[in-house]
Amino acid sequence: MHKKETIIVGAGIAGLSLAWELFQRNKSFVIYNHQNNLPSASLVAAGTWNPLNFKRLVPTWEINLFLDTMEKFYAQMETFLNIKCFYPIAVKKILSNAEEVKFWNEMKSKPESGGFIDENFGEFNNETTATIKRTGKVDMHNLFLAFKNWLLQENCWIEEAFDYDELKALDDVWRYKNILEVNHVIFADGVHVKNNPFFNFIDLKPANGDVLTVKIPDLKIDYILKKNIFISPIGNDLYHVGATYNWDNLVWEKSEEARLFLESKLKQIIPYDFEVVGQVAGVRPASRDRRPIIGEHPTLKNLWCYNGLGAKGLLLAPQISKWLLDKMFNNQNFPEDIDIKRYYPK
Ligand SMILES: Cc1cc2nc3c(=O)[nH]c(=O)nc-3n(C[C@H](O)[C@H](O)[C@H](O)COP(=O)(O)OP(=O)(O)OC[C@H]3O[C@@H](n4cnc5c(N)ncnc54)[C@H](O)[C@@H]3O)c2cc1C
Repeated sequence: MHKKETIIVGAGIAGLSLAWELFQRNKSFVIYNHQNNLPSASLVAAGTWNPLNFKRLVPTWEINLFLDTMEKFYAQMETFLNIKCFYPIAVKKILSNAEEVKFWNEMKSKPESGGFIDENFGEFNNETTATIKRTGKVDMHNLFLAFKNWLLQENCWIEEAFDYDELKALDDVWRYKNILEVNHVIFADGVHVKNNPFFNFIDLKPANGDVLTVKIPDLKIDYILKKNIFISPIGNDLYHVGATYNWDNLVWEKSEEARLFLESKLKQIIPYDFEVVGQVAGVRPASRDRRPIIGEHPTLKNLWCYNGLGAKGLLLAPQISKWLLDKMFNNQNFPEDIDIKRYYPK
């Protein structure tokens, strides 16, 4: 019988940032992941982050803490794994009309939003742009592959679907398949939580989405351009263009409707020819109140849930992982509005 401190189920950004944090705390763990049969939203994400809500121009809650922790996490991953995955580049938002310019001008002087909006406006294709600060993109594929390889070498990665029926409570430990005993199990299983008999009471509001990879030789921008969609440079005249939102058709297959929608939006933004060379689709594990969901099972001790990262997983995950482990190991409180208690069956 092998003994470890913790099992993590799922190696999207939630599971991977947990793994890193456990490693930092010298806690042994093993991570189960099977993205071939159980696809991962993290490997579909275009990887952009920004601190502001584009409609109301207010910052995401606890934004400075999230940004500080995220910047440190990806920098540590780059050094530790000897990879490049973190690109702090500007986001420039096209302001469609005089009213929008006025609104952005007003918000520039507000203490909470102003710090994230550059003083000077710019221009793209004869339209005014505003530059948002502390924005950028993460190359999740690079991070995933390199971290997975390291975890495999350390015998901390098991490439199989975790079989929930094989998890049994035994005195004060959890035993899995009669081969592994652990103190804690954390489920970071994204939208697949619907198949998880321990936590399927969580009522997510997932959102399907597509992202295109598009070749635009004449565009030549080194920032993320945003209007109602974003255009994010990935090198060699290629750009990620996305994303769509669909709450009705929760599939992982790319859709022609989404491609046509993104192409038509792209034509309205750039005056150049382009060629679509790739497309991916996935499902965001979004919650109804747009807050992550973490905490312990209502009755089963040391079974933990980590879900609800929605459309902002790459920004939020590193800090949420810290909060969850502080609770698990030190019984420290985290913000109430992300507590799984709000989903407990009545
Ligand atoms: C089209 C699209 C674009 C997006 N763009 C962005 C973006 O630009 N920026 C951003 O921050 N976010 C973006 N997101 C959102 C982001 O993808 C999510 O917030 C984030 O990936 C959620 O991470 P997660 O780890 O919770 O879930 P996932 O990444 O889905 O990971 C869950 C993992 O659990 C594994 N798993 C599930 N059940 C089991 C089991 N029984 N056994 C073993 N393994 C299991 C799966 O294999 C999977 O790897 C986008 C999402 C989509 C769909």
